[in-house]
Amino acid sequence: MRCRFCDNNLTHEFIDLVNAPPSNAFLTEKQLNEPEIFYPLKLFVCHNCFLVQIDEYKDSKEIFNQDYAYFSSFSTSWLDHARKYVDMITDRLRLDSKSHVMEIASNDGYLLQYFKEKQIPCLGIEPSANTAQAAREKGIETLEEFFGVNLAQRLAQAGRKADLIIGNNVLAHVPDVNDFVSGLKVALKDGGVLTMEFPHLMRLIEENQFDTIYHEHFSYLSFHTVRRILVEHGLILFDVEEISTHGGSLRIYARHDEDESKSVTPNVADLLEKEVARGMLKLDYYLDFQQKADKVKYALLSFLLEQKKQGNKVVAYGAAAKGNTLLNYCGVKKDLIEFVVDASPYKQGKYLPGSHIPVVSEEAIRKYEPDYVLILPWNIKEEIMAQLDYICAWEGKFVVALPLAEGGLRSML
Ligand SMILES: [Zn+2]
Repeated sequence: MRCRFCDNNLTHEFIDLVNAPPSNAFLTEKQLNEPEIFYPLKLFVCHNCFLVQIDEYKDSKEIFNQDYAYFSSFSTSWLDHARKYVDMITDRLRLDSKSHVMEIASNDGYLLQYFKEKQIPCLGIEPSANTAQAAREKGIETLEEFFGVNLAQRLAQAGRKADLIIGNNVLAHVPDVNDFVSGLKVALKDGGVLTMEFPHLMRLIEENQFDTIYHEHFSYLSFHTVRRILVEHGLILFDVEEISTHGGSLRIYARHDEDESKSVTPNVADLLEKEVARGMLKLDYYLDFQQKADKVKYALLSFLLEQKKQGNKVVAYGAAAKGNTLLNYCGVKKDLIEFVVDASPYKQGKYLPGSHIPVVSEEAIRKYEPDYVLILPWNIKEEIMAQLDYICAWEGKFVVALPLAEGGLRSML
């Protein structure tokens, strides 16, 4: 296997989560009686560019199919994050009705809707059919395609280069990172700006967020590695912010190499130094991650078995991808967690891939009165705890398995 970015031979394993079904492959009742496909879930680290990456086991077109269940607009905190970003960037770049904004992986228009409100022309690019349709219903022009050099050239020829290109949580999902970033260079206007957000590999490793690993997620990125990839394609990072989304992400700002109108802020050198100080340019930093993940696995299993012995009722909240990685790696099934609640009507009535735990609506919590609610999307735990605060009426408690700071399972309330 060779590095997706630098083509170096990959010999160092980062983590092996063994076998798992694709995390968004929710099952219908009928499908429970059919065979289920599991794929290897093993990551390597490149000892040349330190890109942490998965072997491509399956065509990405197969994963992002019609049934792709994730709709961004179901999370209110994510919507709030998007709105704040749009206000900030509109102001910073002085965007107006003559500007052109492009978002790659625009999902259901959760972000572009705020540009539309400001009457700033925008275009969404979203390969998943049902989310693209939801965006169009909001009046947002959306191309149902994968982004790369080919699409970028067609857009450029049609005079549709962008003043601002946004790519949130997409860089990690791209199988061919070089084709994708080359496309960004082609689609960006001469004085244009690219902003991208992605989970920071430093936070993943240091907070043991192994549940953010799944098949759809090809690459895991440090600031150093992203910078190297962009430079290779004629793009320069001129600013960066550390933000709290998805357990700790980076928001990078890039421009054309040739564009000297935007100077590089001190944030760039500061973060590069921070990563060096943590050891991210040394292989050792990446090599004990498996043991850290196993600690979480054993802690979660001990907790669930203990509750079972004591006759306590445990349910979960949030049928997100990360929950599926956690439950499948830990081997948790319906006997240990009765059901999982999710706000999305697309998931309700279905079953989690692998564990086959049923997905139900929130009503079930009020009826069942569980002793513990295990919050799977821990990155939005505050939002969930506020929403379910009524469980204190029967002395219900919240629990998260991750991120694990000091070892052991943390419970709240
Ligand atoms: Zn490499």
